[in-house]
Amino acid sequence: MRDLLAALDALRERLTEIPQADERRLQQLRTELLGRKAGALTEILKALPTIDAETRKTVGAAANALKRDLEAAIAAREGALKRGAAQPGEGVDLTMPARPEWRGGLHLVTQVVDEICGIFRELGFTRAVGPEAETERNNFYALNFPKDHPALDAQDSFYLGGDVVLRTHTSPVQIRTLEAYPPPVRVVIPGRCYRRDPFDASHSPVFEQIEGLAVDEGISFVDLKATLATFARRIFSRETRVRFRPSYFPFTEPSAEMDVECQLCHGGGCPACKGTGWMEILGSGMVHPRVLVNGGVDPERYTGFAWGMGPHRIALLRYGVPDIRLFYEGDMRFLTQFGPGGQADA
Ligand SMILES: [Zn+2]
Repeated sequence: MRDLLAALDALRERLTEIPQADERRLQQLRTELLGRKAGALTEILKALPTIDAETRKTVGAAANALKRDLEAAIAAREGALKRGAAQPGEGVDLTMPARPEWRGGLHLVTQVVDEICGIFRELGFTRAVGPEAETERNNFYALNFPKDHPALDAQDSFYLGGDVVLRTHTSPVQIRTLEAYPPPVRVVIPGRCYRRDPFDASHSPVFEQIEGLAVDEGISFVDLKATLATFARRIFSRETRVRFRPSYFPFTEPSAEMDVECQLCHGGGCPACKGTGWMEILGSGMVHPRVLVNGGVDPERYTGFAWGMGPHRIALLRYGVPDIRLFYEGDMRFLTQFGPGGQADA
């Protein structure tokens, strides 16, 4: 009796094959399981008269229940297959244009970040990254910010509690890099930063920054100028003129802003450049000796330069985008103008 019940259990397992069967397979299953001549269930039923009455009752009931279940499942599957087969012809308009497919693409700012990193890679710079939640020490003090600097105020920065802050620039990765790798160091550091800025045409509380750092023996301001001018000519046009203006940052000394010739009027003066013919694209300078010391580097032996810029601004200038908010709004009409992505042609 136990053998017969086990055989029934094994047959019951095969119920799961029915809902996946196609028409041909369904016929096979019907013959295999329920066939009158050699069906598996029929064989069990045939054996019933040879066993004692008590066992026959149990096995018989189980066999009949299984038979009903198998028949019901096969009928259900048959119905489903028929309905499926009926579909293409009935109630479906085959002349209707297909739904357009949406293809993903890289956001314009991501494309610009990749392009900038690519240019610096050719100049020998490796891409480096760091966390967005930083310690006050890495974000400010190690970079030579004085303790009373306004950026340290919770009104200007997003504090996460204690001395942890959402990094206000990618510069803390300079410290992390110097602490982790002995010079020579050449890194380009893209990443997201946070400041309590209003969300307007030229500001956003969340923004991308790309930072660079080169530290080695004998690096001078000539290296800084040559590297950044080369970059400007690669990202804009080959004839693009650049100029450096003295500036101040706590972590560089001397510091300079770099301007590029206005890409709209080519130096003639227009409303976009406020008539000056120049547009500011980045801040730069020679790494402050105190920053080198804080990163564990001997400033008597090594010097370096660093710079930082906003890829949004580069994208604005290059593509003449009038408002930075367009980069954040996710409007496909704007985004799909730049490279692949969006609706594919039908
Ligand atoms: Zn201009």
